[in-house]
Amino acid sequence: GLGDRLEVIFKSLKGKGRLTAEDVSQAMREVKMALLEADVNFKVVKEFVAQVKERAIGQDVLESLSPAQQVIKIVKEELTELLGGTQSKINIASKPPTIIMLVGLQGAGKTTTAGKLAKLLSKQGRRPLLVAADIYRPAAIKQLQVLGEQLKMPVFTLGQENPVKIAQAAVEDANSTGRDLVIIDTAGRLHINEELMDELANIKGTVKPHEILLVVDAMTGQEAVNVADSFNQKLGLDGIIMTKLDGDARGGAALSVRKVTGCPIKFAGMGEKLDALEPFHPDRMADRILGMGDMLTLIEKAQANFDAEQAAKLNQKIRKADFNLEDFLDQMQQVKKLGPLEQVLGMIPGMGKLTKQLKDQQIDEKELGQVEAIIHSMTPWERQHPERIDGSRKKRIARGSGNRVQDINQLLKQFEQTKKMMKQLSGLTKGGGKGGKGG
Ligand code: GDP
Ligand code: MG
Repeated sequence: GLGDRLEVIFKSLKGKGRLTAEDVSQAMREVKMALLEADVNFKVVKEFVAQVKERAIGQDVLESLSPAQQVIKIVKEELTELLGGTQSKINIASKPPTIIMLVGLQGAGKTTTAGKLAKLLSKQGRRPLLVAADIYRPAAIKQLQVLGEQLKMPVFTLGQENPVKIAQAAVEDANSTGRDLVIIDTAGRLHINEELMDELANIKGTVKPHEILLVVDAMTGQEAVNVADSFNQKLGLDGIIMTKLDGDARGGAALSVRKVTGCPIKFAGMGEKLDALEPFHPDRMADRILGMGDMLTLIEKAQANFDAEQAAKLNQKIRKADFNLEDFLDQMQQVKKLGPLEQVLGMIPGMGKLTKQLKDQQIDEKELGQVEAIIHSMTPWERQHPERIDGSRKKRIARGSGNRVQDINQLLKQFEQTKKMMKQLSGLTKGGGKGGKGG
């Protein structure tokens, strides 16, 4: 990863005087690579690197940090600053209702985010009204109504009526029913177009939202920058919500979008579920962007070691929930090839929690041998139906494999935990086959 690469460059420098222009230039070449790998816009990278260089050159090398750590620290501080510094909140109207208008391209996640936002803000005591102003696809209204039912929150709709009228009527409705938050779900298009922009501008002009939030798909990378720029120029955005940051998105789009529009990123979408919306934390995103080098290392490592086909098959089994003990053994053997599990997971940004869960189920050589012996002592039927292995079967398996019944119990428990964890993991990697991370 970036940290390691910088350590190599600086290995002789610790505690020696100042960071020279030469040292910093060398380090910044690595930083530049990491940012480009993270899909940060080229112009943004160039400007950023120049800024960090200026700040880093001539700094005293601190005793407590290695020069590499010190450069990383500066880079991280500057990245965090670029991403907005601190967390930005939404504007709450002094006179309710607060009106939030969600805009963005089709598929960006507006409707889903409307539901998530309603949920998040209702936890903070708000009383949301969801407004269906995407009239072009009947399914869009239905989608919002379904979310409303799940959330037990009202959804305002006038069918295919003019969206400007819908928005206006919704605000009146909120006033008369004591709803203090109006969330307007608008239509999108596949590409930016005049007609859409005019419609959104008309809604804006009529209901005067307190927040116009652009919902943008982080997976679209560089394209997100153009989208954000256009919407901002036409509508004047108050903030951005980045969705699909739970996927393989490298996070660089967040940086570029923020830099190009100057608009704060206010929330991050981390999954399809209704509670998968988080306030956006610039420092965490900086970590994610800097962690990219590690991420790539991991993917390379995984690709080199994993049998992709086998991984894809396993992934499918996990989805269908028929992951059995034979797969478990395969899995252990595969993971073993990757190296210590903790270290592998530690390379994935945001995987800290899972790493902790795994601490007490590390795989060592001896244990793997024991697991193999136990599983080989089972009949094929038992391997397919671990949950049906009863006491007498356990005794037989224990005897056959030279273990104790409690060892069998422990293995079965470990299997269950792994199965659960694999489900979580496969949720993180849609599709699964690529890179084999999910398997
Ligand atoms: P809209 O056309 O902008 O209204 O987009 P939708 O809200 O219909 O979302 C499009 C797709 O993206 C749906 O399948 C959502 O479940 C999915 N989606 C939205 N936000 C996220 C997110 O943060 N993470 C993931 N993984 N999927 C998301
Ligand atoms: Mg929608």
